[in-house]
Amino acid sequence: MTVGTRPANPLKPPARVKIPRQHPHEQPAAARAANFDEVSHGLDAQHALMEASRCLECRDPACTRGCPVGVDIRGFIQHLLVKDYAGAAARIRESNALPAICGRVCPQESQCEATCTIGRKFAPVAIGLLERFVADWDAEQGPIAPPPRPPALGLRVAVVGSGPAGLTCAADLARLGYGVTVFEALHAAGGVLRYGIPEFRLPKTILDLELERVRALGVEIRTNVLVGRTASLDELFAEWGFDAVFLATGAGTPTFLGIPGEGLCGVYSANEFLTRVNLMGAASFPLHDTPVKIGREVAVIGGGNTALDAVRTARRLGAERTFLVYRRSRAEMPGRLEEIRHAEDEGVEVRLLTNPVRIVGDDEGWVRGLECQRMELGEPDESGRRRPLACAGSEFLLPVQTVIEAIGQRPNPIIQATTRGLAVGRGGVVSVDDAQRTNRAGVFAGGDLSRGGATVILAMRDGRRAAAAIHEYLQGRATTPQAMEVQS
Ligand SMILES: Cc1cc2nc3c(=O)[nH]c(=O)nc-3n(C[C@H](O)[C@H](O)[C@H](O)COP(=O)(O)OP(=O)(O)OC[C@H]3O[C@@H](n4cnc5c(N)ncnc54)[C@H](O)[C@@H]3O)c2cc1C
Ligand code: SF4
Repeated sequence: MTVGTRPANPLKPPARVKIPRQHPHEQPAAARAANFDEVSHGLDAQHALMEASRCLECRDPACTRGCPVGVDIRGFIQHLLVKDYAGAAARIRESNALPAICGRVCPQESQCEATCTIGRKFAPVAIGLLERFVADWDAEQGPIAPPPRPPALGLRVAVVGSGPAGLTCAADLARLGYGVTVFEALHAAGGVLRYGIPEFRLPKTILDLELERVRALGVEIRTNVLVGRTASLDELFAEWGFDAVFLATGAGTPTFLGIPGEGLCGVYSANEFLTRVNLMGAASFPLHDTPVKIGREVAVIGGGNTALDAVRTARRLGAERTFLVYRRSRAEMPGRLEEIRHAEDEGVEVRLLTNPVRIVGDDEGWVRGLECQRMELGEPDESGRRRPLACAGSEFLLPVQTVIEAIGQRPNPIIQATTRGLAVGRGGVVSVDDAQRTNRAGVFAGGDLSRGGATVILAMRDGRRAAAAIHEYLQGRATTPQAMEVQS
């Protein structure tokens, strides 16, 4: 079925804008707070077609400009409108290697949907839900036929880290004919998609299917290889025979508040807590070896997606009361609105303008409470957000037995520490130019490693840019200078 400049939808625009935005079915809040099954069921075919018919099929689709990887959104919606689901899936995959994941976790409300033309007066087209519908339909069609392989170019690229940045770069390079090996330090691939984002938001079967598709392109994924220890970056070139390297090791090192009591039993970083549950199967201990101990009352410190995932996981592990403690107001919370709503519906108590000052323990070294002070908002700080100021004498104790800190992460430091002369910026991020090139010839970097913590889609955009730059570098190696200044 061919679609293109002619509208695929017979309805006139005034009729399209009268159709209300469609909403997915969700597990009821009370039920889902006690299980790890996916919260949202997505749209069925009838509602997906209804939602697609709201699209104005704009001549100049603003939605695509809002998408960091430039998905042809109008194009895939036009395929959807004529029920050419395979065509819709192919159109998305031209620029997005992980659509079933992006359809679930991307902040569409601040990207493609924020720029959608219809959104100026009405609710924007639910682009994320449509992307998810198409990707899930595609997955249901059974095992994928391996795509035709391009002629091998005889050059090998190592991708370090199997998160969205690494997988996207690997997929793009394999499509060009490079031999690509992804090295992953953990025993399972996927990065944060595997060990951070919980099953109830991103089922691991979805991730496994997307990984299968990347493998089907000819990409080799080798787990249990810690670059910087198993082999250094220099050895990847000199001894393992790679012609270029893309570093995408993410930002998996947690930061802490530095308040008294952080050494008590019952204090976790969100990273450790979520890894225990998502990667190591702690929710079904002793069926799996790794336990996780959770109090009757749990406080999670932070206001981003990581904090929300941790607090909702604690609830599912049986905590009777769960508090999300955030020192600014709701307007400054970086977590997705939909996830905040989901958390509150599940019974999470959000304590805004509340700043933790001390974790209180008992004589045996276990957490017994979180001492907090109330805050008010002052003038904007360097981040542009209003600075939280402590209200004198407002201290109070939140009685909890578990405290989880989710206040941010830094890049994993091993490669920076074991590679001489690799330019590193503030907070340990690897410095790159706008083509993801580091100061070392043939070494590229991206995702959270060079951003210090961002989003899945921005990591994917870096992966795409790096693949293009690696291609350019390897095709013209003799003539390509890399003249980036070393920053320190
Ligand atoms: C709990 C949580 C929830 C989130 N929710 C969302 C969300 O809803 N939407 C969204 O857009 N973003 C979300 N994010 C952010 C998003 O997941 C990240 O920005 C994204 O995963 C970064 O991708 P990456 O490929 O750069 O790194 P990562 O996904 O971190 O992957 C890096 C991989 O490299 C491996 N590695 C590290 N060091 C080495 C080494 N030396 N050798 C070999 N391998 C190594 C790591 O084990 C890891 O698997 C969330 C983050 C967290 C922590
Ligand atoms: S901007 Fe919105 S209405 Fe226009 S093509 Fe994109 S999704 Fe459709």
